[in-house]
Amino acid sequence: MKSTLEDTLLAAIRTIPDYPKPGILFRDITTLLGNARAFRRAVDELVHPYAGQKVDKIAGIEARGFILGGAVAHQLSAGFVPIRKKGKLPHETVRVAYSLEYGLDEMEMHKDGVAPGEKVILIDDLIATGGTAEAAVKLLRQIGADIIAACFVIDLPDLGGRAKLEALGVPVHVLIDFE
Ligand code: AMP
Repeated sequence: MKSTLEDTLLAAIRTIPDYPKPGILFRDITTLLGNARAFRRAVDELVHPYAGQKVDKIAGIEARGFILGGAVAHQLSAGFVPIRKKGKLPHETVRVAYSLEYGLDEMEMHKDGVAPGEKVILIDDLIATGGTAEAAVKLLRQIGADIIAACFVIDLPDLGGRAKLEALGVPVHVLIDFE
């Protein structure tokens, strides 16, 4: 019997309790990335709604968004632009502070990473509170990107991140939910 997308992805994601802090259930996608079939299905499903559309850039959030975003960019014949933790990018950047489910940080991207008006899809592995993705949306909009969607393998719907992005006018595409 052919397994559903949800079965395939759920079986391929490893859950680590109390990482990186007590009380956090860490959804580890390294096992999904290491599983050829699950990785391919995840990338195919991330790409599916945008096939045939004009997409200029995929913006991937460090670090797991780089892996997924690179594969998606290739499939959509789009460029890739990294959104990184502060201090890692060599050229002129825009920067924003944000809060995580487990801490505080700053992220940045190159000012010339996206040209004004370019159509961009934002990618990360997981959306929790939405703080990270919201900060990425702010960065992209600061430099004039037209964000056509934000895509994630996993949503933790109880934490409200998806609603936060939708309230900013960003359509959200998610493959699976973890309650
Ligand atoms: P948030 O800003 O709260 O939406 O958190 C999303 C970011 O933190 C993503 O880059 C995720 O990779 C990471 N993250 C947050 N919570 C988890 C979790 N429970 N399991 C794995 N990664 C997480």
